[in-house]
Amino acid sequence: FPVHPGDEGAQVGGMVAANAGGTRAVKHGIMRNHVKALEVVLPTGEIVTLGAKLLKNNMGIDLMNLLIGSEGTLGIITKVTLRLYAKNKFSGTLLVSFNNYEDATNAVPDILQEGITPLAAEYIDRIISIKSAEQLGTTWPCSKGKVDLMFIVEEPTEDLLYSNCEKIVDICEKHNAVDSIVADNDKEQRRLLEIRSNAYGPYRNNIADIMDAAVPPSKIPNFFEDVNKLAKKYNREIVSLGHIGDGNIHNFILGDNGKLPENYEALKEDIYKAAVKYGGTVTAEHGTGKTRKKHMELQFPPKEIALMNGIKKLFDPNGILSPGNIFD
Ligand SMILES: Cc1cc2nc3c(=O)[nH]c(=O)nc-3n(C[C@H](O)[C@H](O)[C@H](O)COP(=O)(O)OP(=O)(O)OC[C@H]3O[C@@H](n4cnc5c(N)ncnc54)[C@H](O)[C@@H]3O)c2cc1C
Repeated sequence: FPVHPGDEGAQVGGMVAANAGGTRAVKHGIMRNHVKALEVVLPTGEIVTLGAKLLKNNMGIDLMNLLIGSEGTLGIITKVTLRLYAKNKFSGTLLVSFNNYEDATNAVPDILQEGITPLAAEYIDRIISIKSAEQLGTTWPCSKGKVDLMFIVEEPTEDLLYSNCEKIVDICEKHNAVDSIVADNDKEQRRLLEIRSNAYGPYRNNIADIMDAAVPPSKIPNFFEDVNKLAKKYNREIVSLGHIGDGNIHNFILGDNGKLPENYEALKEDIYKAAVKYGGTVTAEHGTGKTRKKHMELQFPPKEIALMNGIKKLFDPNGILSPGNIFD
């Protein structure tokens, strides 16, 4: 089962309700791509089964996909039928270092266009990796450059694994990569992934907000440039990491010694606008919830918002499910 959000405590019901993505989305897609059927308790107390173990099913309107990602606002998911897959036998974790985000972000669309689909393609500002490793009592293996791309490559044969790693390094070198390291034993791969997963840890006490925008992968370099210009304009420190292979970047807007900076709401809104300008989204995987619903108008015209409100009313006329999530 390929979906792996950074939150190791996520439950299946929550992952369906939040339509979770995570590091492996670039190869395997998101939660929606692996759900075949749901048992749902409606706000009226009735129980319905939506979907079936079928590849093709065009009868009626697809209510199952309406429930996926609805953040608990339409029904309670009590059973999930998932599609499972055979596991690839060989995996390697490749770290490629660059002097700047421009070179790193420009390399990624070229890798994808070459037809190579890694299990994960992550971008990490070096400062985050160093701090995360320190907090875990270990070290980050890269020293040259300032930012890293982390590729997890998983293939059915060892030959394919190494030839794809070589192709990735070749493309990165054309984009001025300054170093590359491959980890092919399980222990080292787990250690690197643990450092990546702990990225939030060292910043926990001084984060104003974590952005979750996504843009089409070809627009990643433009989006990064905009975010860096905005950081300068608002005089704020922003560190970034993210699932760059699918265009989803998490920018950490840092606080003022644990306090919310005065101008952070305006900065946040400008980052959202930049994502939407490039055909992107305000939130790729963390969801609308209570805090992003005020930004719905940035992404949707009034008609679409009215349709969503109508659907909520139809499912939950008394507004008893997840009050305040997505809808007022
Ligand atoms: C450190 C960290 C890293 C994360 N990394 C990622 C990531 O890489 N990718 C990603 O997609 N997300 C990520 N997330 C967000 C989140 O963890 C995931 O989206 C996850 O799917 C939530 O699952 P949960 O079981 O914790 O749900 P909860 O957080 O408990 O609930 C999430 C929402 O779903 C609703 N809900 C929960 N269970 C049900 C149910 N059975 N029926 C109906 N509604 C329900 C809740 O009301 C709530 O609105 C991360 C979160 C953290 C804290």
